[in-house]
Amino acid sequence: MTTKTQEWEAVIGMEVHAELMTASKMFCTCAVVDTTLAAPNTATCAICTGMPGVLPVINRKAIEYAIMVGLALNCEIPPYNIFARKNYFYPDLPKGYQISQYEYPLAVNGWIDIDLPDGSIKRIGIRRAHLEEDTGKLAHMDDGSSLVDYNRSGVPLLEIVTEPDIRSAEEAEAYARKLRAILQYLGVNSGDMSKGVLRVEANISVRPVGEDAFRTRTEVKNLNSIRNMYRATQYEIERQIKVWESGGAVKQETMGWDDARQATVTQRSKELAEDYRYFPEPDLPVVEVSREWVEAIRRQMPELPDAKRQRFTEELGLGAYDAGVLIADRAIADYFEAAIAAGGDPKKVANWIITEVFRLMNNDNLEREDIGSIKVTPQTLVELIGLVDKNTINNNIAKKVLAMTYEDGGSPAAIVKEQGLAQESDEGVLREAVVTVLDDNPDEVQRYLAGEEKVANFLMGQVMRAMHGKGNAQIVNQLIAEELDKRR
Ligand SMILES: [Zn+2]
Repeated sequence: MTTKTQEWEAVIGMEVHAELMTASKMFCTCAVVDTTLAAPNTATCAICTGMPGVLPVINRKAIEYAIMVGLALNCEIPPYNIFARKNYFYPDLPKGYQISQYEYPLAVNGWIDIDLPDGSIKRIGIRRAHLEEDTGKLAHMDDGSSLVDYNRSGVPLLEIVTEPDIRSAEEAEAYARKLRAILQYLGVNSGDMSKGVLRVEANISVRPVGEDAFRTRTEVKNLNSIRNMYRATQYEIERQIKVWESGGAVKQETMGWDDARQATVTQRSKELAEDYRYFPEPDLPVVEVSREWVEAIRRQMPELPDAKRQRFTEELGLGAYDAGVLIADRAIADYFEAAIAAGGDPKKVANWIITEVFRLMNNDNLEREDIGSIKVTPQTLVELIGLVDKNTINNNIAKKVLAMTYEDGGSPAAIVKEQGLAQESDEGVLREAVVTVLDDNPDEVQRYLAGEEKVANFLMGQVMRAMHGKGNAQIVNQLIAEELDKRR
């Protein structure tokens, strides 16, 4: 870890809440809507607003999605799971209890392999995944009042809990990225943390290396991006080490991340254990999960990130690094595969995406996973690479055309034509330019002939400049050698 004094290590467990993208809610027929767009309280009914006397009905699709996630996380799927009432009061919870799962969760004892920045892989244990319902959402107004929107109330929510296997902020980030990718690949969650459909919490403690017991942990929540999760985790590790090293003691508390101050801040202290008085939900049956059902779900599962990486390296011949970058997010993998389907050469396409396309997106402050929304389509990219392959344009001009396509869209071939960017390969024209440059630079020519071979690069640059960057570099190179030889 980068916090690195040799003496301390972080112990981190992650809890992720993922809304499932079913059409309807967990226990009623209300639609699951985008709560950042829909008018408040328009997707609600007597069940999800907790009216007396109503009966919940389990959404079978939500169970199937949750089992699918459990399988993707290499979990055991017990033969039955049981919903329980978790009792507490909060204005966003109209029933006074949340239907969740407690002693009998839907999936247990799994693992996922995370990909670390140095190229290594680490296995993180998954303790459990259980299904519950989301709460409503409070909006706190400037005048001190609060409003509640129950559109989110009752949306299927899967809670995924790791073992405390994570040892650094880098590992926490790698875990969040891998889990998010798996959920996106399965098509059960968009992964959009800014909309709150995926919520990541880190339970963090530190201890001297060699100490077996766990020390007091804090919980960092309300993180709206993976980047902020990384920063908050790193900050909290360093803060706790300082507290212990200065002779203090870390207090058990729930922390949030203050983006403006770039610091974790206390949200509430948790000195008393919460007692939710869980008991089995009397209005719902035990969910029996037959092995046939599990296998039927397994057969419907799409290719997951690790399998895709293996296929990219073994069948498409990509290097492990390139493959890892391309599978890291479903949107990137989809973009890459669409380009291959459009006839692109896998290695060339991978190279253009990872270097030039990502560079343009980065300059534009876009995340890599936003690749689906840029104006360079997979087809456009393949068209551009084709122009280079056919020697219509050289690599440098291709980069310029890509930047133009990135700004305004459109066809690279058309841009090359309209702007007269096609490469000059006519030997007569190029030789004339070479001779002119040699005549204009007698000193450099003499130095070259005296054995200073790198002067050829300067001459090359001068010719390309005279050709406005459009000379066929290979031919120019060869002509410079020929013309210099003539002057020996
Ligand atoms: Zn409802």
